[in-house]
Amino acid sequence: SVPLGYFGGIGGASRHGILVKGANYLEALTDVRTVIFDKTGTLTQGVFEVNKIEAMNEYTEEQLLEIAATVEAHSSHPIAKSIRDRWGKEIDTASIASYEEISGKGIRAVLNGKAVFAGKKDLLLQNSISVPELKMNEVGTQVYIAVDGKYTGNLLISDRAKEGAKEAVANLNQVGITTVMLTGDHSTVAKAVSEQLGIKEYHADLLPEDKVTWLEKYLQKENGKGKVVFVGDGINDAPVLTRADIGVAMGGLGSDAAIEAADVVLMEDQPSKLVSAIDIARFTKKIIW
Ligand code: ADP
Ligand code: MG
Repeated sequence: SVPLGYFGGIGGASRHGILVKGANYLEALTDVRTVIFDKTGTLTQGVFEVNKIEAMNEYTEEQLLEIAATVEAHSSHPIAKSIRDRWGKEIDTASIASYEEISGKGIRAVLNGKAVFAGKKDLLLQNSISVPELKMNEVGTQVYIAVDGKYTGNLLISDRAKEGAKEAVANLNQVGITTVMLTGDHSTVAKAVSEQLGIKEYHADLLPEDKVTWLEKYLQKENGKGKVVFVGDGINDAPVLTRADIGVAMGGLGSDAAIEAADVVLMEDQPSKLVSAIDIARFTKKIIW
């Protein structure tokens, strides 16, 4: 059973905007060995901007942007929102005959009778659409677009690290906690972000189910020696949040599914709040014993 003092600690945590869904999770937070972060919306702001548009095969940049905004009309992904914001005009949703969001990959839709794909390079390749090799000078996420079986261009979208993310990672590294980042994004972006933030290990190009596999590897590696935390925000993250010893969700940006699956909810979407949660847990333990 959990020492009574941890129940008091829950109140202290909530005053710092940290909701702990049980005294056992506060106790577990005293014993963290690995912290695994999702990238988009957790370490980065999840606020993307379209920074470059490259159109080809007789499409103009304007037309390419309109196609992208139209097929992204119904998506709640931060990338979709950035494309709609850049388009800035009304979207003719009546031109979309069918629409499917492929989790962690992008969109497949039928627009004015033509098949359209918008998303990761893999999404196009898997549908037998050849994509030229892009020179990757800028750091960002490329959204590749294809119309009627042909590659028509790409949008370069970038996101920025959250304020305080670097300090939070440094704090964790300093007390000997292993820091890890998992992402569905491309490895070029993952490498740049993890280097910028001082994250020790990263794994990129992951599908939502691959994130669960990686989490399980870390659980096995710790094998009861210490606790594994996963911090995420998205709908896709719910299975990983459930599987972790302690699942931590971002309360502001986070999806309802993530908040529900989590054991701890950070009301402000700041990675530094995880460090506060661990500090509060350790302090609570000290005053109990
Ligand atoms: P993360 O793991 O960083 O939180 P996701 O798993 O949500 O990222 O998405 C992984 C990748 O799939 C994105 O970086 C993007 O390339 C692509 N993607 C996902 N959803 C969309 C969408 N609606 N439109 C375009 N691309 C998308
Ligand atoms: Mg995410």
